[in-house]
Amino acid sequence: MNASTAIGTTATADTPVVGRFAPSPTGVLHVGSLATATASFLDARCRSGRWLVRIEDLDTARTVPGAADEILRTLDALGFWWDGAVVYQSLRLSFYEQALAQLHSRDLTYACSCTRRDLGATDDAGGYPGTCRPGTCRSGPTRTGATSQRFRTDRFPLEPFTDRLLGHCNADGGAAGDPVVRRRDGLFAYQLAVVVDDAEQGVTDVVRGGDLLASTPWQRGLQRALGYPSLRYAHLPLVCEPGGTKLSKSTRLIVAPAASSELLWQVLTLLRQNPPAELTNGPLPALWHWALAHWRLDALRGVTNLPANC
Ligand code: GLU
Repeated sequence: MNASTAIGTTATADTPVVGRFAPSPTGVLHVGSLATATASFLDARCRSGRWLVRIEDLDTARTVPGAADEILRTLDALGFWWDGAVVYQSLRLSFYEQALAQLHSRDLTYACSCTRRDLGATDDAGGYPGTCRPGTCRSGPTRTGATSQRFRTDRFPLEPFTDRLLGHCNADGGAAGDPVVRRRDGLFAYQLAVVVDDAEQGVTDVVRGGDLLASTPWQRGLQRALGYPSLRYAHLPLVCEPGGTKLSKSTRLIVAPAASSELLWQVLTLLRQNPPAELTNGPLPALWHWALAHWRLDALRGVTNLPANC
């Protein structure tokens, strides 16, 4: 399935499951991203689904050279396997260009010259008030004359949705207003690229960290606007420090030589799967075998955060 053949369809119980893990190569894996990889992998594989890996390397300033290779080496060393070739967003700009042109031709985007300072307390994550929507920029052109492009959510209002773990989720749970689809610096925005790629790769099921929950109504709005299928979503509780504080992404890093069945066992424990103690130091295939037979996404229902000891 690809975007052109999937117009307007919705993943049903009969559609073969396609899951994905889409890390940004801003550093090596940490325990939070490894938990996401593990949950999305098991969720797809346990339903006889395919599992894809996509490197989200559009933000060139944040991309760390060598990080993507290190992430893939670590996944491989831990015994993950993925279907097809790894996809790199930096090589797919023409797909995003086409999608943006489609939105533009239907008058679903507009230029915005608002700076963060103009927006004050509001920003892309907190909700854009639509200042430039009427085609008049209150703040006038920026110093460089560059503008971002925003998607008109007044034409495709954000809708509530049902998350597989969280149940009913409101559309305005943090993200509101019109999201940026092309940034002022010319880069395609995450919101657009992720929607295009999920559709074009035939993804049916997104399992990812709860930090992205606020983006989901935007992404669903863009899916509708572009005629793409709707996806199923499960947002995982956030992995945090043992004391409950926010996980520092510069600690608890995981590199390939550290990949072991003990680490996978700890991640499965973190994900509330209760793997048997005797598999802690056994061969990785035995632990995967157990995990594939026993995975329960439901074990994470109602859990608000996941304190990491690994
Ligand atoms: N690239 C994003 C991240 O590493 C994840 C995007 C997604 O799963 O939708 O946080």
